[in-house]
Amino acid sequence: MARPDADALQALLGPTARLVRRALTNDEGVALAPFTDHHIHLHLVDEHALPAHGIAAALDLGGDPAYFARRPRSGIPHVEYSGAFLTVPGGYPSFREWAPAQIVRMVTSPSAAPGTPGGARTSVDEMADAGASVIKVALNADAGPVFDRTTLDAVVAAAHERGLPVVAHVEGDRMTQLALDAGIDALGHAPFTERLDDELIARAVAAGQRWISTFAVHDDPQIAIDNTAAFAAAGGTVLYGTDLGNGERPSRLDVAELRGLHRAGVRGPALIRALTDPWPRPAADDAVATFVPGPPPADAGSIPHWLGAATVVPAEELAVHEP
Ligand SMILES: [Zn+2]
Repeated sequence: MARPDADALQALLGPTARLVRRALTNDEGVALAPFTDHHIHLHLVDEHALPAHGIAAALDLGGDPAYFARRPRSGIPHVEYSGAFLTVPGGYPSFREWAPAQIVRMVTSPSAAPGTPGGARTSVDEMADAGASVIKVALNADAGPVFDRTTLDAVVAAAHERGLPVVAHVEGDRMTQLALDAGIDALGHAPFTERLDDELIARAVAAGQRWISTFAVHDDPQIAIDNTAAFAAAGGTVLYGTDLGNGERPSRLDVAELRGLHRAGVRGPALIRALTDPWPRPAADDAVATFVPGPPPADAGSIPHWLGAATVVPAEELAVHEP
């Protein structure tokens, strides 16, 4: 079959796409920048299965900071992490079976003084000192009390002082608005419990908020997909994320998640961008690449299924076809 030219390939798959041959197996295929799953829970996942199934890096959004502080930083998958969920007494997810005490911290005061028991600054410092690259807060009004504005503002200020963005779990009425009002940098799940109006969407885009998709974790993802479609159409940054570890799913690139993103209008180069955005890292690891064996997909609608064959390979194994 005739090879598509480089312009056609990049129009379909974005600027990182290259036609390549893999030295080890002599397979022809397509190379892309490495993929990140921007929402996983490592302690509930078979991490060694991830690279063979397309995931080179991951962001853990709720785990034991002491475990992550000890874990080697090198190797594939590369894992960045938030450490524990910050919440308020009685708040989500402190009473969930999957959330032992090590992965939850109660913030009881907005104190900015270091070392104050239960202080906002104290919890943020603990995660930052354990090597966290984001701070995770729970704003789930459907499952108990949530932060008041003063305490939430103090958490965000302490995180930003340490150079860390804040990711919120928003669930329930007006929680997206609360996250925006408090200057939250990213949402761990595209909002899935309420339809947002255009004004709120526009504010989220203007604020540079990032939304992590996680459609495939919902029984009915339609609200999340509709909100994301509006957010993406208005120029918002959408990141691929699955909440892997939540529920029984294989440790791999999730084609259902990719189909949801396509449905939300995050298609073609935008879909690849949602996967290859290294956030919260400043840059991806260029020692590895994504390799998809076989010919490129025929059209944007075929990309999710096609990506099901993606693997992570050392970049040096791939020889780029000269144009
Ligand atoms: Zn999660």
